[in-house]
Amino acid sequence: MTLLNIVPFVHSLLHAHVRAGDSVIDATMGNGHDTQWMARLVGPQGRVYAFDVQQHAVDSTRKRLDQEGLLARVTLLAQSHDDIAASVREPVSAIVFNLGYLPGTDKSVATQAETTLSALQQSLRLLLPGGLLLVAIYWGHAAGAREKTLLDPWFARLSPSRYRVARYEFLNSIKPSPYLVIVERRSDDAPGGSDPGR
Ligand code: SAH
Repeated sequence: MTLLNIVPFVHSLLHAHVRAGDSVIDATMGNGHDTQWMARLVGPQGRVYAFDVQQHAVDSTRKRLDQEGLLARVTLLAQSHDDIAASVREPVSAIVFNLGYLPGTDKSVATQAETTLSALQQSLRLLLPGGLLLVAIYWGHAAGAREKTLLDPWFARLSPSRYRVARYEFLNSIKPSPYLVIVERRSDDAPGGSDPGR
């Protein structure tokens, strides 16, 4: 066993957690790798809702999914994830945020602290008991540093009677290293009783 980097670690958690027939959300589709992974896991009866504000991200993800025969199980949304509650009306078992900007493209289209926080609050309301919210935070650029400042205390304040919150991080890296926050809605948390501020 070796320690997995953030993205493969996210994939391993999803693999252990998502079941055929589930509905899930990829809040930052980017080049569609996570969307594709989730689409395989939910199977033909499941559904993936995938968001990105960049049309070319949506287009390249559509092409990737089409080539793999997975397009029919994915709803591609060319819109901001801070509109997530208006677009997803059913509870989900997993939600992934891979924050920051898409490497090799326009860095100005990075996720932003306030919209990210709003999207995370809406996400918690959609999460099923036992569900996982996975947030990869890249704080080595200005917008990412602001996200870290806003989000870290918010995660730390989530009610321990309703959520378990953990962090996966390489502590001895030379460059600022991304970290993953894992929020698990407790399986004994009352269904429907989700006010994330509580
Ligand atoms: N930094 C990551 C990749 C992040 S991709 C890595 O290194 O792997 C982040 C994606 O989020 C980009 O494709 C960007 O277009 C998208 N994005 C930015 N703001 C968004 C928003 N408000 N809603 C949905 N997607 C957004």
